Amino acid sequence: MAGRIAVVSAMHEELHALHADLNQPRIERAAGREFHLGALHDQPVLLVLSGIGKVAAATTTALLLDRFAVDAILFTGVAGGLGEGVRVGDVVIGDLLLQHDLDASPIFPRWEVPLTGKSRFAADSAWSDTLAAAARASGHAVHRGLIVSGDRFVSTSAESTALRSELPDALAVEMEGAAVAQVCHDFGRPFAVMRTVSDRADDSAHVDFSRFVADVASALTRSIVGHALASRSRT
Ligand code: SAH
Repeated sequence: MAGRIAVVSAMHEELHALHADLNQPRIERAAGREFHLGALHDQPVLLVLSGIGKVAAATTTALLLDRFAVDAILFTGVAGGLGEGVRVGDVVIGDLLLQHDLDASPIFPRWEVPLTGKSRFAADSAWSDTLAAAARASGHAVHRGLIVSGDRFVSTSAESTALRSELPDALAVEMEGAAVAQVCHDFGRPFAVMRTVSDRADDSAHVDFSRFVADVASALTRSIVGHALASRSRT
């Protein structure tokens, strides 16, 4: 039997609908988190909230890989759209992840994770393809490329304009993906990041974000992740 896949989100609203579908649920607790083990579409899974931000995501990821020995991590959630044509409701798959607020220059190049020689961490292409296909099948426009993460909710046009000019190929900004990527890189374990665009990281981001998360984030995660796991369990 295939190993367990972890599905991780930053916020309760994002994972809520998947919990309802979980068969033979069992909870284990560690570091103040509830790890929900069970099966989804005949696939052994673990659902967990990471909490918001890079440290929370890194802690959760390390536990998933070490203590729960999951085979792969799928991070699902919402993000602010940065790339041209990346609209609210679109899906962005992070083929590459970078920490936009990491800067140990001039000792190391800007954005480089010290002592790794890397600033961009690659996601697993097979899982990213599976998620992209599932998102397209659910009727979403899908963008693939760079997602940037940092410990800041980007909610002014000045900030998003600055990010766009510094990192012109960034499609979306969020607060966890690149932390998951760095930890998975250290463990040599695959991960993928799928984000639905909740806002444009501009002056109206906080309003758009709240409305989106309350109304659609949960249903989206359910349909796209459900579809991806179902297609995986058939192969
Ligand atoms: N004010 C919000 C804060 C949530 S932080 C609240 O009260 O709940 C935003 C979450 O959504 C993070 O998990 C992050 O990954 C993602 N996100 C969505 N839009 C974002 C943006 N514009 N900038 C940064 N993160 C964003």
